[in-house]
Amino acid sequence: MIGATRDLASLARDAVRALPLYAPESADGALDLSDSVNAWGAPPAALRALAEPSAASVSRYPSPRSESLVPALLRYLGLESTGDVRIVTGCGSDDVLDAAMRAFGSPGDRIAFSSPTFSMIPLFARLNGLEPVPVPFAGTFDLDAERLVDAGAKITYLCAPNNPTATPVSRAAVEFVATRASGIVVLDEAYAEFAPESYADLVGRCERLLVVRTFSKAFGLAGLRVGYAAGTASVVNMVERARGPYKVSVLGERAAHAALADADDALGWVRRHARLAVEIRERVATALTTIGLAPLPSAANFLCIPASNASVLAAQLRARNVLVRCFTGLPREPRALADAQGSALRVGMASWDAMQRFLDALAEVRACE
Ligand SMILES: *Cc1c(COP(=O)(O)O)cnc(C)c1O
Repeated sequence: MIGATRDLASLARDAVRALPLYAPESADGALDLSDSVNAWGAPPAALRALAEPSAASVSRYPSPRSESLVPALLRYLGLESTGDVRIVTGCGSDDVLDAAMRAFGSPGDRIAFSSPTFSMIPLFARLNGLEPVPVPFAGTFDLDAERLVDAGAKITYLCAPNNPTATPVSRAAVEFVATRASGIVVLDEAYAEFAPESYADLVGRCERLLVVRTFSKAFGLAGLRVGYAAGTASVVNMVERARGPYKVSVLGERAAHAALADADDALGWVRRHARLAVEIRERVATALTTIGLAPLPSAANFLCIPASNASVLAAQLRARNVLVRCFTGLPREPRALADAQGSALRVGMASWDAMQRFLDALAEVRACE
């Protein structure tokens, strides 16, 4: 091959070469609690929409911007009568977050966020030439709203409830940042369905706020890759330009549309299973506390358990066919993370039977310590 001896990797952009390739653990036959998708599957109405013969019109392009979803999404978010609010969709909310960074951040601009947060944020930032500015959480895992604003970044990313800590973020802190930050504020509500409240209504009052949501978690459609965001028309319009057309597939759009119906096997299913995940989360949190662990307060469908021996625990759970996500090298603030030397386990919720299997395996592992 001509030129085959050349180091092709050296032709890549530095920012790309420096990035790891995302490679989650695979889970053949194991109990997989390592991510926070819907362990109960997907709404029956969405599955039916995928099977209907008309879904077979896959030789045509989808609608450029998933137009059929927009009225249903505005209704779902309670924003149908809030003037000037628009919706942008994407190939998962990852795509919307990435496009928002490209739309508003020029290379060299800064993006501020509380740390630790969603691991894709610093990666997308680097890919878009942005400088990540991590800001530690305040003592209770609420946002340090003043420091976030004082960072003066072009983009401020907030995640409520926060991943991977599961901790809730207060309305006051979000509102403080959304009204005072100098640039665009991106509020990632991937887990809002499990939280006591959503802050999506703030888009009506904060014109630089973009609220990002997904069908991957409570809606159980992670494999179809559908995400979206709400914001004022001018913000959404710029994200759409940066995003490009045809990001949601024909099947993704159909399933998401079916899932948004106000019916027992659609939104009813989503709400029931979100409630179930929250109930089970509380039982698991109590069980963990009883055996001397201290999960952080959770407003999501997973628990974060700071533990200095998190990697040993995760490996020994894996040996018992239970997969959880292990984080090391997290910031040493707040106190709970410092005490655990920046290590923690993140455990997604599933049926109570499955969680009992996890708790039994964990008790076994800890008995051997
Ligand atoms: C899972 C997750 C997403 C990504 O969701 P997709 O829509 O599947 O791309 C975004 N933000 C946070 C915080 C998440 O945990």
